[in-house]
Amino acid sequence: MSYAKPLPVPDVETRPFWDGCREGKLLLQRCTDCGHKRFPPTHFCPNCRSAGQEWVESSGHGRVFSWIVVRHPVPRDIYAGEVPYVVALVTLDEGVRIATNIIGCAPEAVTADMPVRVTFREATPEITLPLFEPAPAS
Ligand SMILES: [Zn+2]
Repeated sequence: MSYAKPLPVPDVETRPFWDGCREGKLLLQRCTDCGHKRFPPTHFCPNCRSAGQEWVESSGHGRVFSWIVVRHPVPRDIYAGEVPYVVALVTLDEGVRIATNIIGCAPEAVTADMPVRVTFREATPEITLPLFEPAPAS
């Protein structure tokens, strides 16, 4: 069965992130000059403008910063079987935010500051998506 929804297309900046997801690791860039962690991947540190960077593994834990519940499938032919679903911004314990889906609970159960943890869903052999599910408070 093929995956019908839109997928990311890894490029030179993002390929290490997607390779990490495929291996069950949520990777962030860390500046090798000032230590600032960032997401999404960029060539330069937004804190000090250094091009030095390394990839580090996130704890995978965070809290819901904001979210919406999608109830109208757009486009309908792709998302009719998916609604309602939650699109959220999660603040990871490392301080960076990631746009994702919250799964594993009813959309109405999502609350501000709710503890969540990453879980991975293989979409294709190349792309595994990082999603988040409720987690015990850490
Ligand atoms: Zn920096």
